[in-house]
Amino acid sequence: MYLAKKPDKADPNEARLSRFTCCALSGAPLAAPAVVDRLGNLFNKEALVEALIHKRLPKALSHIRGLKDMIPIHLHPKPNAADQEVRFQCPVTGFEFNGKSQFLALRGCGHVLSVKALKEVKSSSCLVCHKEFDEADKMPINGTEEEVEVLRQRMEEERGKLKEKKDKKLANGLSGSKHAVAAVADAEKLENGKKGEAAPAKRFKAADHAPAHANKKVYASIFTSSNKSDFRETYSCRSLPLGRN
Ligand SMILES: [Zn+2]
Repeated sequence: MYLAKKPDKADPNEARLSRFTCCALSGAPLAAPAVVDRLGNLFNKEALVEALIHKRLPKALSHIRGLKDMIPIHLHPKPNAADQEVRFQCPVTGFEFNGKSQFLALRGCGHVLSVKALKEVKSSSCLVCHKEFDEADKMPINGTEEEVEVLRQRMEEERGKLKEKKDKKLANGLSGSKHAVAAVADAEKLENGKKGEAAPAKRFKAADHAPAHANKKVYASIFTSSNKSDFRETYSCRSLPLGRN
């Protein structure tokens, strides 16, 4: 049973190697200018832009919607690698960009470094250009399933936030859309509500709602200190001056 298992399956090492050396779309050797998508896949920029323009992106890459979803990266060339399959390396450790070591792209500056380099040199700025970066700027290249899932969630979160921002802008702007009108109406209501609260005419007067048989003054005194007479009350208690009764 084990022996018969998928004999024609591609060598996983080969597959991993090609993910680091070839464009994930065209299959051509990776070359500058290169980009990563938001999930950490590598592309030659030209091939990806071309496919995007002509709407020829395969379904598997439908998460790439525009230029915003391409992060330009800078791969460090391996010396004397013209004819070799692996043409890039980590600028710090010299690890080959061949899928055997993990690599990260920094979202702000696009420099690609091995995970090992960033672990050894504990730095919050890029080891190549010294631009500061956050933990969230680290994009695993061809990462594990879990890493890709984290990137996917972040992408969706960012898209959600962007949409929220757009909606807000629409509501605040003078676009005359339904949103805007509704927002203005709401704001006015709120404003009036505040005024109403302050206006004495609209105040609730307990005495006006007293039951027919009740003494209005006494009834009102249940709710308020409307009988503002000769004694003071504090915020914490209804004072009962000595000798009042
Ligand atoms: Zn950098």
